[in-house]
Amino acid sequence: MTETLPQGATIGILGGGQLGRMLSAAASRLGYRCHVYDPGANPPAGDVCAQVTTAPWEDVAALNAFAASVDVITFEFENIPTATLDLLEATRPIRPNRRALAVSQDRLTEKQFLRDLGLMTAPFAPVSDAESMAAAVAQIGAPAILKTRRMGYDGKGQARIMAPADADAALAEMAGADAILEGFVDFSHEVSVIASRGLDGRVAAYDPGENLHEGGILRRTTVPARLTGSQRADAVLLAGRILNALDYVGVMGVELFVTQQGLIVNEIAPRVHNSGHWTQNGCTVDQFEQHIRAITGLPLGDGHRYADVVMENLIGDDMDRVPDLLTERDVALHLYGKPERRAGRKMGHANRIVSRG
Ligand code: AMP
Repeated sequence: MTETLPQGATIGILGGGQLGRMLSAAASRLGYRCHVYDPGANPPAGDVCAQVTTAPWEDVAALNAFAASVDVITFEFENIPTATLDLLEATRPIRPNRRALAVSQDRLTEKQFLRDLGLMTAPFAPVSDAESMAAAVAQIGAPAILKTRRMGYDGKGQARIMAPADADAALAEMAGADAILEGFVDFSHEVSVIASRGLDGRVAAYDPGENLHEGGILRRTTVPARLTGSQRADAVLLAGRILNALDYVGVMGVELFVTQQGLIVNEIAPRVHNSGHWTQNGCTVDQFEQHIRAITGLPLGDGHRYADVVMENLIGDDMDRVPDLLTERDVALHLYGKPERRAGRKMGHANRIVSRG
């Protein structure tokens, strides 16, 4: 038997963006309160949670007070400083665990972990200076992508190398940060699996979604993805393997490239994932509720999908389309309450039901 958090217990969430907002809403449906910790003022999650702390990640007093006020801690993004986590973990459980965070915070550690599990990744080599860059280009060849090992998201901290002559400029773009050179994967399309593992070790996965990126940012997720039956099974099984290897608790996004050689793992995200937003209108238990169920010790939903869905992100000026989207019969809107619109900023998403199963 696993211990279940009682009704009225408080979940601490590190990060108060849209993912924290949707986690808070799901937690409240299950009778839990949320306390969000975010260094930025007025985080989107603040509108829907019971309590917000606005303080830097280094504020020991604020972190201690936060930990004392919650029963379990989770997070909505992976780049939380190690010292912050050390301090919090001294008094409260962090779910998913630190190993999952450590693996996904560093692209090199992540790739090595995946390889050690016997999964396929892009060819890769570490880069820290001109010498290792030259060795990496000689090993991997071109085209390739140079990525910072840490703190990259939505295609940021990346430079493409179309020919070996581009190497110097790409290295300069890393601004001294440790990097990884990845061989360019010749994929037909990109898919992701949103999988979860409960406190009792049980695993559930949603049907894989097909992802379209534009400028490094997710534009659209379509379910079902174009996959054969065996590819679909493969995707779910490999996600389960990752979750079990990490003794993971919570929801994880596993991004995959579909190639002639099989499924190649691009990256893992130890949290609810943008490509899982479709579950809000395609499943009885969506990824946010699933995550809350996992970290509070409740049984997981089985991931059953009852509709075909296309999820589209509303980025920057896409917000101009909201009045029209509101008049469409089979569209559910999820807006994040961000007052300031900026190019490239995720402002909301629309789930379009394409057909019911
Ligand atoms: P990432 O931030 O690593 O998820 O990269 C963002 C997007 O860039 C991916 O979703 C792919 O569309 C593309 N990409 C990243 N790495 C590779 C690679 N090794 N080969 C081909 N495309 C890639």
